[in-house]
Amino acid sequence: MSQDAGETDPAVWERITEAGIRLLRIPTPFQVGRVNTYLLEDEPLTLVDSGPNSGKALDELERQLDALGHGIEDLELIVVTHQHIDHLGLVDILARRSGAEVCALDLLAPVIEHFAEEAERDDELAEALMLRHGIPRDVVSALRSVSRSFRAWGGSSTVAHPLADGSTLEFAGRSLEVLHRPGHSPSDTLFHDRERKLLIGGDHLIGHISSNPLISRPLGGRSGEPGAGRPRALMTYMESLRATRAMPIETVLPGHGEPVTDHVKLIDERFALHERRAAKIGGVIAEQPMSAYEIAQSLWGNVAVTQAYLTLSEVLGHVDLLLDRGAIRESEIGGVIRYEAG
Ligand SMILES: [Zn+2]
Repeated sequence: MSQDAGETDPAVWERITEAGIRLLRIPTPFQVGRVNTYLLEDEPLTLVDSGPNSGKALDELERQLDALGHGIEDLELIVVTHQHIDHLGLVDILARRSGAEVCALDLLAPVIEHFAEEAERDDELAEALMLRHGIPRDVVSALRSVSRSFRAWGGSSTVAHPLADGSTLEFAGRSLEVLHRPGHSPSDTLFHDRERKLLIGGDHLIGHISSNPLISRPLGGRSGEPGAGRPRALMTYMESLRATRAMPIETVLPGHGEPVTDHVKLIDERFALHERRAAKIGGVIAEQPMSAYEIAQSLWGNVAVTQAYLTLSEVLGHVDLLLDRGAIRESEIGGVIRYEAG
């Protein structure tokens, strides 16, 4: 799934190293493979993201820091790019051992501070959405247990510095502009080094996989109840990508895989992919009205069962594009939403 480091032009790595940025690839138990964390050798000494909460991840992080001449105790600041557990699980352990202060987008701060409660409420939304879109109750219950068991890879921490969208994080040797670009998750935050045309991007833009916009509760206390209109994650994500596309950047440092050096081309490929997928889903619905679960099954077979929430999010994201254009319409039968050609 992931590329090996050899595929990136060495000149790109040289520029990144010259910028005082070191990549640490930390293992995760998830399908995505290793997560990228970045050490900014600046004042304060900063780690962007942390890896999941596991002894293996902690060992690797410590070993890789050591190879760069640093210890966990040297860390002074920890920055979190978004709310997913492969990025924030170790934050608290690292902050306690080093005394580093944690900073994150202001909307993300409460999610980091109350991780388990927030995760539980996310699961409630997911459960309601899955039932409403035709996923059988036994599949929903099974997924809820899986999700609970994953929670141990996350963890809460105190956020000393909540960051406002549009604010600037100042270091001795750089300024990073803080940009809220939700979609992959509601808290996706980019850190833009304008001078170096460089973006620390979390999972907003990944070279080798299209970042699935998972449907999640909106942040900031807004209602995420399905009845109040479910979040339109893919549309939010595409709007964020359009804003990123317009930026004059040369390098994106992603949360997984290799640096992205042509963000405009990659974003255009993503737009084309979503158009193709929307057209395919439109074609499936044109044959007969279907629930989102039935659409997912017709596209992905059994994966729609084992990865029910992921594939549901994927279908609903594209359904939103079609609804927005008036190409399809939705109706409700017995509490389950169905889609048909408009
Ligand atoms: Zn993520």
